[in-house]
Amino acid sequence: MADPIAVLLFEDDEGQALLTKEALASEGFVVDVCRTGREGLERLFTKDYQAYLIDIKLPDIQGVEVLRRINTVKPGAVCLIVTGHGDEVAAVEAMKVGASDYIVKSPYMGHLAALPLRVREALERYRLRVEREQLQTELWEHARLLEERNAELRRANEELKRVDQLKSDLVSMVSHELRTPLATIREFTGIITDAIAGPVTPQQTEYLGIIKTNVDRLARIIDDLLDMAKIESGRVILNKGFVETGPLIAHVLQSLRPLAQVKQIELTAEVPHASPGVFADADKITQVLLNLTSNAIKFTTGPGRVVIRVQEQENDILVTVEDTGIGIAPEDLPKLFEKFQQFKRVPGFAGSRGTGLGLVISKRLVELHGGRIWAASEEGKGSIFSFILPKYHLEEVFLEYVKSGIEEAKRKQGRFSLVVFSIVNFHELKALYGLEESAKFLREVEALLKETVRRSAGDIVIRWQRGEMVVILAEVDKAGAQIIAGRVKQAIEKHVFQIAGTAFSIPIVVTAATYPDEAMNERELFALCENRLSQAHVARTKILVVDDEPKIRRFLKEALELRDYEVLAAASGPEALEQLKHQTVDVILLDVMMPVMDGYEVYHLLKEDQKTRGVPVIIVTAKGERKDRQLGMDTTHYNYITKPFQLEDLLAKIQEVLKDAKLAKS
Ligand code: ADP
Repeated sequence: MADPIAVLLFEDDEGQALLTKEALASEGFVVDVCRTGREGLERLFTKDYQAYLIDIKLPDIQGVEVLRRINTVKPGAVCLIVTGHGDEVAAVEAMKVGASDYIVKSPYMGHLAALPLRVREALERYRLRVEREQLQTELWEHARLLEERNAELRRANEELKRVDQLKSDLVSMVSHELRTPLATIREFTGIITDAIAGPVTPQQTEYLGIIKTNVDRLARIIDDLLDMAKIESGRVILNKGFVETGPLIAHVLQSLRPLAQVKQIELTAEVPHASPGVFADADKITQVLLNLTSNAIKFTTGPGRVVIRVQEQENDILVTVEDTGIGIAPEDLPKLFEKFQQFKRVPGFAGSRGTGLGLVISKRLVELHGGRIWAASEEGKGSIFSFILPKYHLEEVFLEYVKSGIEEAKRKQGRFSLVVFSIVNFHELKALYGLEESAKFLREVEALLKETVRRSAGDIVIRWQRGEMVVILAEVDKAGAQIIAGRVKQAIEKHVFQIAGTAFSIPIVVTAATYPDEAMNERELFALCENRLSQAHVARTKILVVDDEPKIRRFLKEALELRDYEVLAAASGPEALEQLKHQTVDVILLDVMMPVMDGYEVYHLLKEDQKTRGVPVIIVTAKGERKDRQLGMDTTHYNYITKPFQLEDLLAKIQEVLKDAKLAKS
């Protein structure tokens, strides 16, 4: 049975004390009674009680004060205050000071019946509170331990990273240090071999050859170790650009052909005619290909065959290197791309011993490009090593560039600007001269652009779609971007391009936008440029006014220029035709009544010439001059405006024909 509950009762009234004691004792409590506050407080030091029952009115000290003192000596003790009727205010105060409960005496002692229960309840609440506090403490302790553990792990992790970095640094440092003396050894071995330092015997030449082979091997091992260290410490930065696979593979073939020939291995490549391009780091991809192909040669005993193939797939470019070599045992295949794995050794072939790092490096490099590498092989028959690189989407590439430029600017709290320009009549040029000529022309523009912008290597120029070009200017503020935009415009418009043997000057529209002054991310930046570009396009529409009357020419030029059109003028039909040989325009305003050659004649010459056929022409006539019907022409082809006209009508007509022309093109 549980120990009885000890209660100390503070009650000056003898009768009440007795009754209360009896009520509690009958329920298994042990009750000590004290008549005064002081007497009770002294008992605190001699005995432990689980609960205190305090009459609010004591002869010496107020019940609330007794409560306060108990709380000081025994914090959290279970105290119940017993009050008379009408003492509720005092009861509330007692609760505030820390009483567990209060009991109101009823005149006929009815409250005593409930008393044991109330005390038990107060004790239960106390127990629960203590328990909760304990749990809370434990929880805190757990959290603290966890935090400590975390801190330890963090420290360990940092230490590991530091050691790893140290290892990588050591490897790169040592490798770098080794490279220099090795280069010197190689250099002087060459000098001796070439008999520059004096005659060399055949035997010495042979020995020098061995030295050179081994120095080369050492150099390769050092390169591998350096690469590995760089990759493992995450210090490989891809210098991505547009890479055509054709020339890249040609380079690989050229470098490895001598090696293949020595072993009587036929080394060939199968690349589609329009070799697919990838957006990649050309050096790194070359390294992967060199590694796979030299392995293929290394592990093939001649005569044999090694073929490099490039295939375009839906989302990727697949490159395979197939050999007719010794193959790889099935149990070795899964370990192929792990560090320091070397399987079958081929004796007698110089350089056949590597580091077992080549494939790991290749794998990491391919993966850094977002690709995948794998191998299939049959022992004794040969192997196929394959890797895929994701195809690029111009827009993604562009956005990736801009994004990283913005990130960089953010880090440096700097600026990042874009300059975008668009060749006004590019689609016409393309329609006229075909894809090849216009691509050639774009390359010329690009070269000119690079020359003009000529900034640090981080700024790049890439071809955008539909005759738009983008210049990316890292660390250039708004004013700087404007200056460069102006320079680009001037350089290109001044330049005379040769397109299919014809000299052309090319109008362009240029715009620039800067982070963070004008846009907060790459999409905003680009949207801004696009918006400004299309506005600029409208403003830059070029109109050729053909009229023999100087006053009318001047009036139209001024009026249209005020509306942001660019206006060219010709005083006669032949002059207009001559101008159009070197210029492209968007609209031609053609007067009918002209000496030498009338408007209709000019019109038909324009429509016969492939170059000007697509340019909308507005024929300006006076009333009664519409000879078209007399000529028996199909009248629907003509766009007329009849003199005298309101300028607003002309502007509306210009907009209308431009819209029709655009529709016809799309
Ligand atoms: P290394 O060539 O420097 O030894 P690699 O990582 O390039 O290291 O290759 C690891 C191992 O994989 C080679 O040692 C060889 O055993 C095996 N291997 C790689 N390519 C071929 C291949 N084309 N044919 C057969 N075995 C190969």
